Amino acid sequence: MKEVRILPERKTIAMVAHDNKKAELIEWAIYNKTYLAKHDLIATGTTGKLLEAELDRPVKKMLSGPLGGDQQIGAMIAEGKIDVLIFFWDPMEAQPHDSDVKALLRLGVAWNILLACDRATADFIVTSPLMQVVYQTQIPDYSNYLKRKVN
Ligand code: PGA
Repeated sequence: MKEVRILPERKTIAMVAHDNKKAELIEWAIYNKTYLAKHDLIATGTTGKLLEAELDRPVKKMLSGPLGGDQQIGAMIAEGKIDVLIFFWDPMEAQPHDSDVKALLRLGVAWNILLACDRATADFIVTSPLMQVVYQTQIPDYSNYLKRKVN
């Protein structure tokens, strides 16, 4: 039987932006403030601090990305605690935590969550009528992987 996950009306949106992308994410979040008001926000440390100040609302803050925040958010994705990831990563600059960036993107896909890495996709996600309703998503079937024989 297929495993499903129920996304509630009020969804949990995680946000992460690399330093060169923070201004863009903040501008996007202010522009979409009304849509975002209907959901819970969580972010890596510095991104979260900026969002909280600019949106004037609470944002759950994890550690700063390079200090483990990306991994904390990745773990929450694996635990089914995050519905949407808005991740403005910088395509023009290597990061000290590139391995964590890759891991976060991988987990987002591995768990079939909503994932936007640019403003246009983030716009489409946040304005989708599906953001306002309960939505059933399929969790990829990893049962064969879990049952595999290892010697
Ligand atoms: P930061 O982390 O929000 O703490 O700057 C972002 C990142 O993962 O680089």
